[in-house]
Formats: sequence, structure tokens, C-alpha cells
Amino acid sequence: MTSSFKINEIFYSLQGEGFFTGTPSLFIRFSGCNLHCPFCDTQHNEGTFMTVEEIVRAADSVPASHVVLTGGEPSLFVTEELTRALKAGGKRFLAMETNGTHAIAPGVDWITLSPKFEFTENAQLAIQSCDELKVVYTGQDLTPYENIQATHRFLQPCDTGDATRNREIIERTVQTCLDNPQWRLSLQTHKVLQIR
Ligand code: SF4
Repeated sequence: MTSSFKINEIFYSLQGEGFFTGTPSLFIRFSGCNLHCPFCDTQHNEGTFMTVEEIVRAADSVPASHVVLTGGEPSLFVTEELTRALKAGGKRFLAMETNGTHAIAPGVDWITLSPKFEFTENAQLAIQSCDELKVVYTGQDLTPYENIQATHRFLQPCDTGDATRNREIIERTVQTCLDNPQWRLSLQTHKVLQIR
């Protein structure tokens, strides 16, 4: 018998953010997180238990090979057994979106690290390198992020739910990228497009 995982939802859409923006992707959203960010928009405690076989079957049902392991906090739950099963035959690319507080299981091809240490307690990093560093930006000092090794660095304006505040944050984000060109802009294009 194989393990089961508490899954919040599995859906097929375009990646809305960061390096792979626009890429058709299967999103596997794991239920549960160890942090409590004030802007969190995920109902991350609800979910249904699914076996490895059921998750692989869901992945087989879509034409895309790009899989996004997200949450909640997927690193708490994703195991090598699951990454092996999803990658069987070399047919899938596994990207994980993580808050970086927990080690990553072998078999993940791409790590998108979005640290939360400025927003909530107990968010110290357990990993110090990633493919993509994505900072939810409100205008904070970026010095704490400088020691993180990342191939790509993105600032993503924080969606506060307040239009006036969001406008201020967007302007600050654009200016910060212009002043510090090692950073690029990431937008939540799925919200602009009003898709999932
Ligand atoms: S790390 Fe992500 S899922 Fe967890 S509370 Fe923060 S925003 Fe929500």
C-alpha cells in the first residue's frame, strides 16, 4: 500500500506568476501550512486524502508535463515516493513553491522560494538556494534576501486587498526593480486575467 496525501485541490491552468508565467501547468495544492501569513489567501486546512496512484492519475489526465507542487506548504508533505511516481518515465517537470522552512524531497526539478520571515513568526529558512526567489513585496528592506542564492529574482507586489495601498506598492515595486536590476517584476497574472 502506498502513502496518501491531504490534497486541497488539483487543477489545470496557466502558471500565473514568476519565471514560468503563462506555462500550462497542473497545480497540486497540498493542504496545511506551518505559517500564518496575514495575506494568505489559501484555505489550507481543508482537503481530501489521495493516494500516490490517484495523484498520478490526475496528472495523467492533463496534456501538460509541467507540475506545480504548492499549498499550503508542500515541502512538509511531498515525499520521494511521490516525486518518483510523478516523474516515472521522465515525463514530468516538477516545480515546487515553498516558504523555505523545511527541506525539499529529492526529485523536485525547480524550487521557487518565497520566504515569509518578514511577515510571520517561525519562518526561518531551512534552504539557502533556489532556482527562483520570489519576494512578496510591500517596500521592505531587501538586505535579508541578499545571501539567498537564486538564479532568478522576482519582486511581486503584495495584494493587500486595498486598491489605494496596492497602487502605492506597485509603484514602489517598479521603482525598486528599476533601481536594482537584479530584481525583475512578477505579477499575479491569473488575477488580472480572472482565471484560477
Ligand atoms: S506560507 Fe503561504 S500558505 Fe503558508 S500561511 Fe504563508 S502565504 Fe499561506
